[in-house]
Amino acid sequence: MKARNFRYVRPASLQEAYRMLAEAGGEAVPIAGGQSLLAGLNMRLSSPKVLVDIGNLAELTGQSYADGMVRLGALTRHRDLLSSAIVRAHLPLLAEAAPHIGHIAIRNRGTIGGSLAYADPAAELPACAVALGATLVLGSAKGERQVKAEDFFKGLFETDLRAGELIVEVKFPEVPTGTSTGFAELSRRHGDFALVGVAALAILRAGDIESARIVYFGCVDRARVAVSVSAALSGVAVPLEDASPYAAAIRNDVKPDDTPGLRADTKLHMATVLTRRVLNSMVE
Ligand SMILES: Cc1cc2nc3c(=O)[nH]c(=O)nc-3n(C[C@H](O)[C@H](O)[C@H](O)COP(=O)(O)OP(=O)(O)OC[C@H]3O[C@@H](n4cnc5c(N)ncnc54)[C@H](O)[C@@H]3O)c2cc1C
Repeated sequence: MKARNFRYVRPASLQEAYRMLAEAGGEAVPIAGGQSLLAGLNMRLSSPKVLVDIGNLAELTGQSYADGMVRLGALTRHRDLLSSAIVRAHLPLLAEAAPHIGHIAIRNRGTIGGSLAYADPAAELPACAVALGATLVLGSAKGERQVKAEDFFKGLFETDLRAGELIVEVKFPEVPTGTSTGFAELSRRHGDFALVGVAALAILRAGDIESARIVYFGCVDRARVAVSVSAALSGVAVPLEDASPYAAAIRNDVKPDDTPGLRADTKLHMATVLTRRVLNSMVE
């Protein structure tokens, strides 16, 4: 199939992009890397009248670190997460997750802003953003506001973004010394979306988990902290021999259901195994 006709506009500045989006009154959508949007347009899942190409806006690019905060411009490509010295030094979770996002061609074009705005519950970056306690800076013709990642994802492909609003940048607090992060996912083939994945952050003291922040993806409706598992793991010694004692807490958070080709019990088993693997990877 082909997309319905649309008008394509290319603003020269962020302010011009805001103006174009506001003038279209909900009939326009931004396009960044196009790796999710174009497939949806071709399948006619949506039919916007105007595409506002934000892919060349300098205001949305760049990575910086200052005062314990990493700032990633919305146009930070997935491949940049692998090559950025700032990301590798301060946010190793993102560098660990990035190779799992699609294939090289997709990572060359896809952006962090696009991934967060699209809010696919099987995507890696929304889960990492929640695990890391990120804050999204959202801008529009009306000004800027900031929303915590854990409040941004509202449901399946649903976010707190309002019409005419853009993700401008994502702010990540530096992972403090003594805090570890871990990541694992299972997919049918490398590059496929995850069936089940885990992004985690934990403070470890003398071989025990002092506190944990576990976020599942692929098997949930949206990126959110798995509060039951995170609480149940407090005070637990790692490495774990077996995570099955936490399966009830995982079930409570994930609430797995049967989907074609994958039973709920299988998802729960995979989530339990991955939880153990991720926690143990933090002490290896
Ligand atoms: C074959 C294939 C495999 C893939 N596998 C994976 C995978 O394993 N894991 C994964 O996470 N993703 C995967 N993706 C998706 C890919 O990561 C996309 O790049 C990403 O989801 C969207 O980023 P984008 O910049 O391409 O956004 P676009 O496609 O340009 O836009 C996506 C949505 O976000 C909106 N948007 C874009 N930028 C902004 C912004 N700054 N502010 C507000 N709204 C914005 C657009 O209007 C649109 O609604 C895959 C894609 C393909 C085609």
